[in-house]
Amino acid sequence: MFKILKKTFDTGLVTTGYPDAPPRLSENFRGAPRFDFDNWRDARPAAEACPTQALSIRDRGAVREVTMDYGLCIFCGECCAADRTGAVLMTREFELAVRDKADLVITAQYDIGADGVQQHLKQIHCGLQPVERDTAALEKHVHQAIHQTLGRSLAIREVDAGSCNGCEVEITALNNPVYDLERLGIHFVASPRHADMLLVTGPVTRNMELALIKTYRACPEPKVVVAVGACGIGGGIFGRNYATLGGADQAVPVDVFIPGCPPRPHALLHGILLALGRMGEKGLPL
Ligand code: SF4
Repeated sequence: MFKILKKTFDTGLVTTGYPDAPPRLSENFRGAPRFDFDNWRDARPAAEACPTQALSIRDRGAVREVTMDYGLCIFCGECCAADRTGAVLMTREFELAVRDKADLVITAQYDIGADGVQQHLKQIHCGLQPVERDTAALEKHVHQAIHQTLGRSLAIREVDAGSCNGCEVEITALNNPVYDLERLGIHFVASPRHADMLLVTGPVTRNMELALIKTYRACPEPKVVVAVGACGIGGGIFGRNYATLGGADQAVPVDVFIPGCPPRPHALLHGILLALGRMGEKGLPL
């Protein structure tokens, strides 16, 4: 008994202070890749190495279009390893959740020479590029969301729509003493009839399509749906095929998308807080 008490006191407080305080990330944590589109001279090796086609190129005559879709990215780092120009860097960025899937896509157009080398950046269209986020505004939003949440509990029903369970491992971690989601008044419930929010993982297998739709219908209005991970956003490495729909938004309306494979618990928390703002817009009294 005394040994247990001693160990408890020796360990101290392990619960993260996020979002009020910056998260403690492990040394080996790898976040989203960052691209120096202005000075990138050859995107071909990186695009060829990308296993999910999150990074892709399309050459049309003397013009190359480079597309980066953070919704498909699994943060594997292969693009960074393959790139020989120093234009790709793996960061520790994880606050990537967005309300519009299109915000996860960056498209850059280049003039290319006869040797296929990019010579000039013609134009670039950025969604909500993580490296350009207004961190002060984000912090303010998170604080507001937390204070609103503390005034009322939030009930989440998780729906596994064909996931490999990688996302479930991270979602389960939200309930452990380190992340302790309940400290924010947020808890998971067993029935969609008691839920304010659906957290959907997996590429939505065709076997799970009807179950997801029925769960969505069973959830009382107003409700929000959060698509979790590369699979939940766009089918991930499975994509859309005979067995999968290719993302939660193919079956039900989605309010927030959380990239990652799987998203770490801090990223899930960030996305859930973003969804809280959406809830306020939908008229849920917070
Ligand atoms: S980190 Fe991996 S999945 Fe993401 S763009 Fe690079 S190679 Fe593709």
